[in-house]
Amino acid sequence: MNTMTDTAAAAAAAGTVADANTAPDFRDELLAAGLLIDTGENGLYGRSQIFEDVLERLNVAITRLGADQQSEVLRFPPAMRRTDFEDSEYLKSFPNLAGTIHSFCGDDLGHRRLLRALDDALTDSDSDDERSDAWMAQQKPTRVVLTPAACYPIYPVMARRGALPAEGRTVDVLSYCFRHEPSLDPGRMQMFRQREYVRLGSAEQVMAFRQMWIDRGSLLVALLQLPVEIDLANDPFFGRGGKIVADSQRAQALKFELLIPIADPRGKTACLSFNYHMEHFGAIWKIVCADGAVAHTGCVGFGMERITLALFRHHGLDVNGWPDEVRALLWGDTEARVAQGLQSLQASAAHTGGGA
Ligand code: ZN
Repeated sequence: MNTMTDTAAAAAAAGTVADANTAPDFRDELLAAGLLIDTGENGLYGRSQIFEDVLERLNVAITRLGADQQSEVLRFPPAMRRTDFEDSEYLKSFPNLAGTIHSFCGDDLGHRRLLRALDDALTDSDSDDERSDAWMAQQKPTRVVLTPAACYPIYPVMARRGALPAEGRTVDVLSYCFRHEPSLDPGRMQMFRQREYVRLGSAEQVMAFRQMWIDRGSLLVALLQLPVEIDLANDPFFGRGGKIVADSQRAQALKFELLIPIADPRGKTACLSFNYHMEHFGAIWKIVCADGAVAHTGCVGFGMERITLALFRHHGLDVNGWPDEVRALLWGDTEARVAQGLQSLQASAAHTGGGA
């Protein structure tokens, strides 16, 4: 079944051997249809107008889904202060995924060295993959790094505001995020968008928020007529110690994911995640509740490209051929349909004696 294309074979030969078993068929179809645009780099794509339209309308549906949350909308560029990133302990868990930003900070002499190294690289190499990166020896780290997850920039901002109000806070964020994991699987991009609702408050407030969003996230996926499967999950912690941390995260049921088949023949792809960080970020940035206790935090993350890809995977590459109900949800009466879905959620919760 895994017929490997030349592109895939070349990429596998170029070092992404772990990906040799992923079926590139769906990726090829997306590129051939022009929905994604190849840059020559695995996991880095352009998006077509149609792809962006679907993603934007999905984003609107998510806004409707959280319309009663009184959330504060905050948008940051896809970079954060390096010191905040260092404080976050991201490097302890995922050093291999982080992206740092470097820039030339030298003088005329350094500039000449850079140009000489670049000139040598351009004349000496036969292919892009073999090209020397010696010019980068002139680059120095800047004070900013790429955002690893959409919610990271908000914690230090919330901490600077002082104690949380009694009802806590809910923040709505959307950002491009970076993860260094080049892959042929279109569901595993290096730069992608995450929409998140983030909750800061007591343990009870955060747990209630997470359960509510597991229900609402499942509702959205059902309205999109995609197969819903919720599963206990763990983050891909790095190294030998990583397995212990991952096991502990599972044992405490801190992370759930909503899985949908996209392109990975080895399994389904996490399209939504529901995370409880306990006091992790609260303790790092000294975020406190109204009563002085360390704040708990949690977030629901929507993988915008992944859900968009799942729609193309399950309903076809031509949006005009998508099921009427799905088209009506995205291009029709989004607000009314989401409100109706939320009402039925409430009704079934009341019927079963209330949610968590
Ligand atoms: Zn988050």
